Amino acid sequence: MSDTPTPEPSASPRRDFIREMVADDVATGRFGRAPATRFPPEPNGFLHMGHAKSICLNFGIAQEFGGTCNLRFDDTNPATEDIRYVEAIQRDVQWLGFQWDGLYYASDYFEQLYDIAEMLVQKGKAYVDDQNEEQIRTNRGTVTSAGTPSPWRERTVAENLDLLRRMKVGEFPDGAKVLRAKIDMAHANMIMRDPLLLRIRHAHHYRRGNDWCIYPLYDFAHGLSDAIEGITRSLCTLEFKDAREIYDWLVREAGFENPPTQIEFARLELDYTVLSKRKLLRLVNEGHVTGWDDPRMPTIAGLRRRGVRPEAIRAFAEVIGVARKDARVEIATFEHAVRNDLNMEVPRRLCVLNPLKVVLTNYPEGQVEQLEAQDYPHDVPKTGSRTIPFSRELYVDRDDFMEEPPKKFYRLAPGREVRLRFGYLITCQEVVKNEAGEVIELRCTYDPATRSGNAPDGRKVQGTIHWVSAAHAADVEVRLYDRLFAQPDPDDVPEGRDFLSALNPQSLVVIPHAKAEPSVLDAPLGSRYQFERVGYFYAEPEDSTPEKRVFNR
Ligand code: ATP
Ligand code: MG
Repeated sequence: MSDTPTPEPSASPRRDFIREMVADDVATGRFGRAPATRFPPEPNGFLHMGHAKSICLNFGIAQEFGGTCNLRFDDTNPATEDIRYVEAIQRDVQWLGFQWDGLYYASDYFEQLYDIAEMLVQKGKAYVDDQNEEQIRTNRGTVTSAGTPSPWRERTVAENLDLLRRMKVGEFPDGAKVLRAKIDMAHANMIMRDPLLLRIRHAHHYRRGNDWCIYPLYDFAHGLSDAIEGITRSLCTLEFKDAREIYDWLVREAGFENPPTQIEFARLELDYTVLSKRKLLRLVNEGHVTGWDDPRMPTIAGLRRRGVRPEAIRAFAEVIGVARKDARVEIATFEHAVRNDLNMEVPRRLCVLNPLKVVLTNYPEGQVEQLEAQDYPHDVPKTGSRTIPFSRELYVDRDDFMEEPPKKFYRLAPGREVRLRFGYLITCQEVVKNEAGEVIELRCTYDPATRSGNAPDGRKVQGTIHWVSAAHAADVEVRLYDRLFAQPDPDDVPEGRDFLSALNPQSLVVIPHAKAEPSVLDAPLGSRYQFERVGYFYAEPEDSTPEKRVFNR
């Protein structure tokens, strides 16, 4: 089972509004080139489910339409970016099953962006402003009132050019000057009121070192990076809708032919979690989780460590589709995709989380039988089998016993008979308690004629429970992971509180001594199982030791 399969190109791609537009581009030859998309993360954190949606969309379109998709790091902010994130992002995109055509860094375009800045100045379309960012914000006006032009707005081309060149060589301190587009200080779209293009930052950039000190703002870098790469459709989330105008203005003024255009789609918001790198970073930095790859995190790395397969994430992206309006997605939709995928793929095993000793008083001491066990249920196409040792002393789950059961309790209780999975029928004869009155052992008899699981006399036994042989069981640690937040929308908290107050205190329950059938130790770390009647588990690769294997649910 490979972790990095190449997805099959879909024969009949889902037609959402974006794919309709791309199909139309192809039909009309609008861009004069094959559809070209890109996935443009900022390397300031790990990728999360929202990014997965965008990845499936961008790479999916390239595959379906015979186009290309680049991975571009939008690394224009020296303060927050790191090579560690660059590496994690590449690994996660590949693990999801995608391979980029070009691998690019916006920080490699700084020189080209600078040349475009000079060109805008030459054309009288940009100027150097000495106001600080605070003054610029104040003078931008409001939605109902026009902004106030900067006192430096009418500088000559020669003066602007001189100042811009001196900005570039580092003559001025941070914040002393900015380069702004010269558009319209009364524009209805606030973004168009002379937006900032370049600002001074004497800072260390993880790739450029200290050699560059005029950093492009997002709007300036993003669309032009798309244009430089020959992207046709720049897919982004809805909050960039108002930025489309500056996007178009810049690629046009910079003189690109058949420039890319932007299409916005709904951000993924998922119940019981947060999809924002800023918030995820706080969870990591403040120690609420063990790291970006904590299995409770909605990051690709966290989901991988929880045992989710890339196929499930791609299937989820397909199910939720792409829409023009934001909407929260129920966590059940995701969980369903994960279970659907694992159900078909992973072998079954027996594991008792909360062990209660059972002694079969009429089973010969020292005898061990190997019972044949199927790895998959009948409704799954995969097949396989193994044997499980059976002996006089077993463990069953405490939850499968009740001393005073209600009528419909089809598990173990005094005098009641139950089927052991893949094995015999047993009857509870006696309950052994300690001094505190707690049940510590069940003394049962087994019916030697029922090895097939059925009684020859045809008597009906409703319940089947899982078990392991006490002497043969593997002692394993089981980590039960639950939702990270206790409420669907973690941001919906009373005034004065933040999303951290909505954390689920029960999001991790550790069971240090669960008892599993011995074959779970045979498979390599990273293997997945369904522990029958308990859930899906992943053999934890990092925290397992030769002495103790750890399984994540
Ligand atoms: P965050 O808010 O988590 O920091 P971001 O948008 O700042 O996310 P980027 O690294 O800039 O993160 O995002 C890279 C790409 O992923 C962008 O094209 C962005 O639109 C897309 N993306 C990010 N979050 C989501 C989301 N929740 N749903 C869909 N696409 C998303
Ligand atoms: Mg961003």
